[in-house]
Amino acid sequence: MDLFSYKDLQREVWDTEKCCGCGACVGVCPTEALYFNEETDHPKSNDYCKVTRDAVPCAACYHACPRIEETCSDGFGDIISIFESKSKVPVLEAQSGGVVTSVLAAAFESNLIDGAIVMGVDKWSQLPQPMFVQTSDAVIQAAGSRYVWAPILKALRDAIEDRKLRKIAVVGTPCVTTAVRRIRQSNVDVLSIYKNAIRLSLGLFCTEIFTNNLLDDLRTTHGIKPWEISGFDVKGKLIVKLRNQTRLELPLKDAGASKRRGCEHCVDFTSEDADLSFGSVGASAGHTVVIVRTDVGEGFLKLAESTGHIELKSGVDIAAIAKIGGKKKGISVEKAKTALTERA
Ligand SMILES: Cc1cc2nc3c(=O)[nH]c(=O)nc-3n(C[C@H](O)[C@H](O)[C@H](O)COP(=O)(O)OP(=O)(O)OC[C@H]3O[C@@H](n4cnc5c(N)ncnc54)[C@H](O)[C@@H]3O)c2cc1C
Ligand code: SF4
Ligand code: SF4
Ligand code: SF4
Repeated sequence: MDLFSYKDLQREVWDTEKCCGCGACVGVCPTEALYFNEETDHPKSNDYCKVTRDAVPCAACYHACPRIEETCSDGFGDIISIFESKSKVPVLEAQSGGVVTSVLAAAFESNLIDGAIVMGVDKWSQLPQPMFVQTSDAVIQAAGSRYVWAPILKALRDAIEDRKLRKIAVVGTPCVTTAVRRIRQSNVDVLSIYKNAIRLSLGLFCTEIFTNNLLDDLRTTHGIKPWEISGFDVKGKLIVKLRNQTRLELPLKDAGASKRRGCEHCVDFTSEDADLSFGSVGASAGHTVVIVRTDVGEGFLKLAESTGHIELKSGVDIAAIAKIGGKKKGISVEKAKTALTERA
């Protein structure tokens, strides 16, 4: 009998400040026993847990959590191929080459998925919004990267349990793609509905994510109001893009106070557990790097190419990815470069 429960998450993840805030435990809990509030960096329980109240086996939250595993690999996950890519259809607010959006749009138009979990943003408050979209138009509206944190996988319940969708894609940072991999590999009964419904996992490169304090700090220290911001980027520094076409560049250490605590435990830069991984470092301007990791990922990428949604070419600067990826793992650039090129 699997009697792991949120109490084990509390001991191993919440109390050790390892929680990355992915929201997987909240999204899969059958009794809605877990929730986020403003006060803590991790979920809380209302004590309606099946295990702790009624001794009924469950353990869904525990087996979905990406922070239960030790992540210390020197490698960069499975790699079939690496491309530089750009969307051939207009994606107005694309972060890099608009490729994540175009791969999803192609999948929608070919009826290979019936929904996608993405991260929208309230353009007035700049607060991120985990959301579930069902059309290629809606996915285009959700383009761009959100550098302020929100627990995206809590949207799993809405998509799969409430709306009964059975072929969805999930976009997320590396920690989110690890939660998705754990759900897909799990044999826990409660997780089987999620396992069978997630058809595609799209991962983003990631060095860190920020708490809402970032928005407060921009307002109080720099006089920038959220509605004046058009977007963010991280390129060795934090870039705040403003609607008046100017930008503010801040050293990352200044934004460091707003970095989520769980990110300190993270060693995955390239979303090693995804079907396809996407980033900007290593690509030329206006393009996205795409790492193909699985046959499923390759199928979706080739579909997007053959339907005229994206173009693919070689010439990615692997050393640039190795530099940041190696730093996050605490290994040398040379070792990281070898690990990346050996697999590609
Ligand atoms: C927090 C964060 C940190 C990043 N750090 C780096 C980095 O250091 N180096 C690097 O090369 N690339 C980084 N990236 C990835 C990069 O910003 C782009 O997302 C990537 O290059 C894909 O660009 P695109 O134009 O193809 O994506 P787009 O077509 O713009 O689509 C992006 C998709 O991602 C979804 N999304 C946006 N933010 C989030 C989020 N927080 N969680 C889940 N889904 C989200 C959007 O809803 C959209 O569907 C980071 C992304 C994030 C979110
Ligand atoms: S009911 Fe299941 S998923 Fe919810 S807290 Fe308890 S063990 Fe975790
Ligand atoms: S890492 Fe994700 S699954 Fe684990 S406790 Fe935190 S929010 Fe829940
Ligand atoms: S740095 Fe790691 S823990 Fe933090 S958001 Fe990125 S992938 Fe998740």
